[in-house]
Amino acid sequence: MIDRLLQTRDLSDGELASLLSTDEYDGELARSADMVRRGVYGKDVYIRGLIEFSNYCKNDCLYCGIRHGNSTVKRYRLSSEQILSCCEEGYGLGFRTFVLQGGEDPYYDDGLMCGIVSRIKDMFSDCAVTLSLGERPRESYQALFDSGADRYLLRHETADEGHYRRLHPESMSLRNRKECLWNLKEIGYQVGAGFMVGSPYQTISNIVSDIRFLQELRPDMIGIGPYITHGGTPFRDFPSGSLELSLRVLSVIRLMFPYALIPATTALGTIAPDGREQGLAHGANVVMPNLSPVGVRKLYELYEDKICTGEEAAECRFCLDRRVTGAGYGIAVDRGDVKREREAIMPV
Ligand code: SAH
Repeated sequence: MIDRLLQTRDLSDGELASLLSTDEYDGELARSADMVRRGVYGKDVYIRGLIEFSNYCKNDCLYCGIRHGNSTVKRYRLSSEQILSCCEEGYGLGFRTFVLQGGEDPYYDDGLMCGIVSRIKDMFSDCAVTLSLGERPRESYQALFDSGADRYLLRHETADEGHYRRLHPESMSLRNRKECLWNLKEIGYQVGAGFMVGSPYQTISNIVSDIRFLQELRPDMIGIGPYITHGGTPFRDFPSGSLELSLRVLSVIRLMFPYALIPATTALGTIAPDGREQGLAHGANVVMPNLSPVGVRKLYELYEDKICTGEEAAECRFCLDRRVTGAGYGIAVDRGDVKREREAIMPV
């Protein structure tokens, strides 16, 4: 089955479901995923400096620790100057992509956000700017793109209508989420979608639907990480997702999307001490360490026990270097854009 997946980059729904439901193929899956990743990206691991600039959020996603309804969260916002100084520090440490992520916070309107993006692009012209600001009108995405933003991360979270409803409040819709992704793509962003593994009520067939949606969208980046329970949410009594299934999904996705930029997520590193290294060995080729000021890191608590909330950026960077090298890969000081052209020459 894996040979066929390697050759055709596809399987039937039933085959995918059975591949995801057993540990029988795990070793072979990981080896094949690593081989495919090395074929396209070699040993390179791209790093993205993550700046979590606001934990205010108007949404109430049931799984998320910084949801509007969690009144125990101490809220913060970073100023343009603070964000720029994070970039400056990051640049010195070899980061050539900055990811600005936040809750959906209307305080950062288009004027403010476009100003931040264009100042970063002016100061660091050899760097890419990735935004992860949630759902905004098409005109807003266009204005941000025109100010210089290169990429946008917006996980679809789940491609199944019924499952989407159980994870989100009435005010949100899968249709709107998907429309945002198509808009971003049409505008010209490198686009990232993705989902959590093991979120409440998720079934294997939901994951198959997620994969089908990814095949339709053909995103440049695919973010996959385990769901991790947060005590301040309505899902406090649900278990977190497993490392095994997260890694299995990651490998299957690498085999189906050879060119994709796939992070070994912080969530993966949170559920296992060597989770990110394992992620790399299972097909991931990106890591996104935290560049936010240490004082606010603990406050951007999407889930509990998030790692790397105590160290300074430089410390994080050196720790990461050790981890990546130890896993047999190497950090590239590079924007790390998607290698779209490789898709055409990879044997199908
Ligand atoms: N407001 C932005 C950023 C959201 S945070 C947006 O809407 O896109 C980034 C991602 O963290 C989310 O897309 C979600 O998939 C993930 N996340 C949120 N809560 C989580 C949890 N409890 N466990 C694991 N991942 C979580």
